[in-house]
Amino acid sequence: MSNPVPDTPATAGSLIGQIRDAVMSRQRFLITSHSRPDGDSIGSQLAMAFALDALGKQSRIINADRAPEHYYEFPGLDRIEITTDVPGDAAADAVIVMECGDLARTGVRGFEGRYIINIDHHAGNRMYGAINWFDESAAACGEMVYDVIGALGVPMSPEIATHIYLAILTDTGSFHHSNITPRTFEICRQTVEAGVNPAIMARRVYDSNSFGKLKLIGALLDQMLLVDEGRLAIMRMDDAMLEACGCTNNDTEGIINLPLTAREIQAVVFFKTSGADGVRVSMRSKYDVDVRMVASAFGGGGHKNAAGFTVPDRLSDIQDRVVERLIRAVHEGLRTRPKG
Ligand code: AMP
Ligand code: MN
Repeated sequence: MSNPVPDTPATAGSLIGQIRDAVMSRQRFLITSHSRPDGDSIGSQLAMAFALDALGKQSRIINADRAPEHYYEFPGLDRIEITTDVPGDAAADAVIVMECGDLARTGVRGFEGRYIINIDHHAGNRMYGAINWFDESAAACGEMVYDVIGALGVPMSPEIATHIYLAILTDTGSFHHSNITPRTFEICRQTVEAGVNPAIMARRVYDSNSFGKLKLIGALLDQMLLVDEGRLAIMRMDDAMLEACGCTNNDTEGIINLPLTAREIQAVVFFKTSGADGVRVSMRSKYDVDVRMVASAFGGGGHKNAAGFTVPDRLSDIQDRVVERLIRAVHEGLRTRPKG
């Protein structure tokens, strides 16, 4: 890989150096990320694993949940071990934790007390590692992994490039979110040079719906509520809806972005009561509408334009409070909306 691209935050330099030294002086790694992994967590973990392979090091990837099915077309997904307890035989000299504000976000027990390298780009990271590199300005954790891999002197193989691109493509909401910088494109440029085909990536990630998912999209949009003069969209999904469409919870990825394609809609909230007890709440927004603040108020997190949380309550107990806060966030965001 060539030198780090311009605009790598200066303060990051010494932390990247510390991570490089920690990795070079160790042999056995565990890699993990948050439960219900998304493209950034999958891409960041696998890019790192392939880089460790190139250095002749051992690594095991341990996740609480399976990735959405279509990610299994990408290299190395079968390496991921799905378990909520670190296996007894998982001896390691270090654990690399990506995308997690605290260790509980992994959904896996047993990482506590180990030598942890914490790499994350979400606001509010708890700095629980021996090394904590936290950069809120990164559009994806994959951008940070790109820097680490460069510092390790590992060339950009097609596998690494694929996973870095996957991380960036998905965590920018396919280049929609407001955290994209020249650096984002420079890294993507290098991945394409290393063999990534952006058309194939986009088709695999975004155009791999089942017919059942199309039915589910229809049902969700049909029942969608609009409030605040159409500026906020509310979607709700329960088990019955999933069953009627022959879908599982894994089929819901990306659906939340659809309402934002309407010009008037500034934010979307998606309440899911399917599966486990409680409510899973996902939010997306445009421009300066800050849904992370809303997620934080309910114990969750994320980014300005994409955030979420889970609560044990019933939907009827929280819906109004969430909607009220979102309407305030929409109004606040519209005041500072960028021109042009
Ligand atoms: P989702 O709506 O599940 O796709 O999540 C959107 C963003 O919010 C992602 O960056 C997640 O990592 C983040 N996020 C979702 N739930 C939580 C949570 N409980 N705590 C912290 N961050 C979260
Ligand atoms: Mn991310």
